Amino acid sequence: MKVIKFGGSSVGSSDALRSVIEIIKSKSVNDRLVVVVSALRSVTDQLIEMSTLASKGDDSYRTLLISIEKRHFEIINELFPANSRSDIITDYKLTLNELEDVLQGVFLIQELTAKTLDFILGFGERFSAMILAALLNHHKLDSLFTDARKLIKTDENFGAARVLAAPTFQNIRNYLDEHHNKVIVVTGFISSTEKNESTTLGRGGSDYTASLFGAALQADAIEIWTDVDGLMTADPRKVKSAFSVEYASYEEAMELSHFGAKVIYPPTIQPALKSGIPILIKNTFKPEHPGTEISKEIKKGNGTIRGLSSIDNITLITLRGSGMIGVSGVSA
Ligand code: ASP
Ligand code: MG
Repeated sequence: MKVIKFGGSSVGSSDALRSVIEIIKSKSVNDRLVVVVSALRSVTDQLIEMSTLASKGDDSYRTLLISIEKRHFEIINELFPANSRSDIITDYKLTLNELEDVLQGVFLIQELTAKTLDFILGFGERFSAMILAALLNHHKLDSLFTDARKLIKTDENFGAARVLAAPTFQNIRNYLDEHHNKVIVVTGFISSTEKNESTTLGRGGSDYTASLFGAALQADAIEIWTDVDGLMTADPRKVKSAFSVEYASYEEAMELSHFGAKVIYPPTIQPALKSGIPILIKNTFKPEHPGTEISKEIKKGNGTIRGLSSIDNITLITLRGSGMIGVSGVSA
């Protein structure tokens, strides 16, 4: 059993999706698969933007909605032949109508609560997972679209909910027991409360979804497919000579991801570490590249120092002067 997750750029265009199909096909030969997907690149940001506009009574959110709608339709039209599109178009349109209705509600009331925003943010993953599952079926891989809100349970902290591990793991195991011999295609990032209200796991949370499935199912590996070669020694936009490391321990990966490296969402490491499941970071656009393997062992790989991470926009202020000694309140 493997859990493989594809990020927003991996599902962001028809060409990228073609590579994704090939990767899934080749893996499905030897392994039972759970596939977790993010929303198409930038869609989550656009959902936030639309919600904000609508909540201010600005109807230009509709223009943005049309562009999101078009982008998904283009992908459907490019990847499905005309005679096998009707089912996915129907499913997509139904979900799209739901999004249109909520946004209309936000626009009319001019109010956007954290709970409503979480509900709206989930549409990106619902669209992408629905399209990918249909696409796999079209390519003769028996697949099942799965809305993670049915399985991942959280508290009511809308915006960055905390996962309730016990019911979540149980739900995932039961679900997989019920559906044999199918590629399970799951929406990343989204979850729900025990009252079935939609929640999200924090920005970048699809990695975490993959890790939760991996831990619940005691998978052999969790693979995070992205658009870079793995964990890099430094931010490649700042350091031209940065390269990807072959191995990292959970601790090293945690350290790097907490302090700037964008490639993996920090909470992802914990469930994998707890169950000792290796995490592989791979490049969808260069599948032959070994990527980075994150595991318990400290393997040497290419060097002693694992990497440097950096954080932008930090200001360091030094205050000094003998007049401050013993004067309370100065540090404040
Ligand atoms: N789509 C969500 C985000 O942009 C989750 C993810 O991509 O991991 O934050
Ligand atoms: Mg990400």
